[in-house]
Amino acid sequence: MLRVQDLHTVLETDSGLVRAVEAVTLTIERGETFALVGESGCGKSMTALSILRLLPDNGRVERGAVRLRAGGREIDLVQLPESRMRDVRGRRVSIIFQEPSTSLNPVMPVGEQIVEVIERHTPLKGEAARTKAIEWLQRVGLPEPERRIDDYPFQLSGGQKQRVMIAIALAAEPDVVIADEPTTALDVTIQKQILDLLQELQRQQGMALLLITHDLGIVATMAHRIALMYAGEVVEVAETREFFARPLHPYAQLLLAALPDTAKRGQPLAAIPGTVPRLDQAFAGCRFVERCPQAMAACKVTPPGLYTPVDGHGVRCLLYDATPPFEKGGPGGISSSATAEQIPPAPHYERGVDFTDRRRAEPPPLLDVRDYKVYFPVRRGLLKRVVGYVKAVDGISFSLAAGRTLALVGESGCGKTTTGKALLQLLRGAVRIEGQALLEGRLLDALEGDALREARRKAQIIFQDPFASLNPRMRVAEILEEGVASLRPEISADERRQRAAALLEKVGLRPESMNRFPHEFSGGQRQRIAIARALAVEPKLIVCDEPTSALDVSVQAQILNLLAQLQRELGVAYLFITHNFGVVEYLAHDIAVMRAGKIVEAGAAEQVLERPRHEYTKALLAAVPRLRRAA
Ligand code: SF4
Repeated sequence: MLRVQDLHTVLETDSGLVRAVEAVTLTIERGETFALVGESGCGKSMTALSILRLLPDNGRVERGAVRLRAGGREIDLVQLPESRMRDVRGRRVSIIFQEPSTSLNPVMPVGEQIVEVIERHTPLKGEAARTKAIEWLQRVGLPEPERRIDDYPFQLSGGQKQRVMIAIALAAEPDVVIADEPTTALDVTIQKQILDLLQELQRQQGMALLLITHDLGIVATMAHRIALMYAGEVVEVAETREFFARPLHPYAQLLLAALPDTAKRGQPLAAIPGTVPRLDQAFAGCRFVERCPQAMAACKVTPPGLYTPVDGHGVRCLLYDATPPFEKGGPGGISSSATAEQIPPAPHYERGVDFTDRRRAEPPPLLDVRDYKVYFPVRRGLLKRVVGYVKAVDGISFSLAAGRTLALVGESGCGKTTTGKALLQLLRGAVRIEGQALLEGRLLDALEGDALREARRKAQIIFQDPFASLNPRMRVAEILEEGVASLRPEISADERRQRAAALLEKVGLRPESMNRFPHEFSGGQRQRIAIARALAVEPKLIVCDEPTSALDVSVQAQILNLLAQLQRELGVAYLFITHNFGVVEYLAHDIAVMRAGKIVEAGAAEQVLERPRHEYTKALLAAVPRLRRAA
């Protein structure tokens, strides 16, 4: 259906020519789901944008071909005049973007946005097009489509907006759909609905689906074949089952080993040293050489080709250079009659984990929360009178001991983050609190003055977004010293500086970093700075609010390793707020599942994960796309 051949895409930037996509070759069959995976900046989205010629102004396809089969012949999209390309977009090839909020037109009713596509690409016009749009909204599962068709995007939830995006992408019944991280912004149960829907529509229409994602769990559930990208190149391509059973490229092997899950509990996750190389340089040899544990002398000087050690399984690595080149070995695609049911089952392995260490007697709780309620006042009128309350957290109870990790899980808006912030006294004055929260036996919400300062020292927070949570105008040294200066005024300036340097080393950064500003660091490094800032005041409890959700798998592994190490060394307790079940399985001793402000199930991690009792927990766990399924 679509053949991408030797595609080279470049971006002109201030720092020079960035080679974003280099020699990418892919073949996608009719009815096939082909996954393009890799960490941020590896070139997957640029490949998608190149196919549709939607590159940013500074980007261009330098060479290569994108051959689309249409009407019994092939057309090269790279060479097509822009006027004809407009007919291809939407009609033949369409795209679903990650963030529906920014992709939908906010001032146009959603129905009109679908009608526009139908009228442009099909013979249907006027009322007939509107009827068709309603039909599409029904097919993508939007409730009450006749009424919702006239809604504006802001009137819909995130999942509903993504459904509208899918309806727009499919409205002209294209042959190829590119889904670029279609569910990254969504909760796990909505994600499952959207992925099921895409599979269902694919079955009905036989379209080819190019799925771009960084989530290997989704790939294992959805894709027939997979191509792994690294630094602009495809480094491995294989059938999905073959890839997960036998990853060949050292990067693929490390990436899979870096994923947190139950089986790796208590062990450090594989960390990939270093960072992805800049793409504005010329490469003499393999692009992975600086990070590869199996690098040889030749790797620095010889660029590896794509070899085929196993039929249909290509790998760009000199370890396999005695095997035939991949193109000769053939792409090994899946036949056009393949359906989602025929996706090979994901590989599994035994969960031979001993949980007995977590059945030992519990030490006294560091944090004890009893029937805790956090209500946001709803104010109306000129005098802003309180006319009611939104019950964000509605009577939850749990306890957390020193050196332990409690995962608070649940979908967006369930009250997890509000719980964390309220406990840390970050919502004081803005909410009504009922119930009790005791830190080391002292009622947190009753504390004032020095006692409150002391509690704030003992309980710290790490936020999700390391870009937004560090003050961009402060140097790292000031960021680390700020908390100490206010919460531990007895410590001298010299000692503060020494402590800051020691902390940076502890979180794996060089002390020289102290004089730099946050923007000079990568996302993972900034999260390390945020962790160092939290540790600066020697806390006993850290609320970790989705601390790795903005990070790539390899960086996530480094941060999780660091958190586990700090817990072992310092005995700090974590209240870990997350929706990532891989992280929960790997890190949590105990789990509390929240829904609509209440805890619906709580218990030891293995019990909640292996033998969930509440229907909501079961639904949540069933919705998680699994890389490895339990036997
Ligand atoms: Fe590692 Fe060499 Fe293979 Fe590159 S070519 S992945 S450096 S062994």
